[in-house]
Amino acid sequence: MRLLVDPTCDRLAAYLRLCGHDAASAIERGAEDADAAAALARDENRRVVTRSERLAGRTDGILVAQGSLDSRLRSLRAAGVDLTLADRPSRCGRCNGPLDPLHRDDPGPDYAPDGDAFDRWRCRDCGQVFWKGSHWDRVRERLAGL
Ligand SMILES: [Zn+2]
Repeated sequence: MRLLVDPTCDRLAAYLRLCGHDAASAIERGAEDADAAAALARDENRRVVTRSERLAGRTDGILVAQGSLDSRLRSLRAAGVDLTLADRPSRCGRCNGPLDPLHRDDPGPDYAPDGDAFDRWRCRDCGQVFWKGSHWDRVRERLAGL
C-alpha cells in the first residue's frame, strides 16, 4: 500500500515501513501543510495517513485515532492496513528507500553485526544497514499486542 504519513502521525511511518509498506513522510518530503500533503498524495497515488478529519475527508485518506501509539496503530489496522511484520524487510525504516540484501561476507558498517550471525539489508538510498535485532523483536511484540 502506498501511503503518505502526515506530520500528525510521523512516528507511524517507521512501523508501516517495517511492515513492507511504501510509507513516505510528509516531513521528510517537505509537504508539511495540508495542501502540500494532499497534492503530493495525489501526484504519487498515495493515501494520506492523518489525525486530521478534514485532510482525511478531502483526500480519501486514513483517519488515525488520537491517543497512544497503540491506539493509532489499531486504527490503521481497522482501516485495512496490514500490520504484519515483513518476513524479509523491504523498506528502510529511516527514509523509506528500498533495501537490498547485504552479502554475508561484506563486513558492513561498524554498528552492524557480523553476517554470520544475522541476515542484513542495506538501504539503497541512505546506506543504513538493518537486521532483525532487538528493535525488530520489540516492534513484533508491540504489533502482536494490539
Ligand atoms: Zn534509507
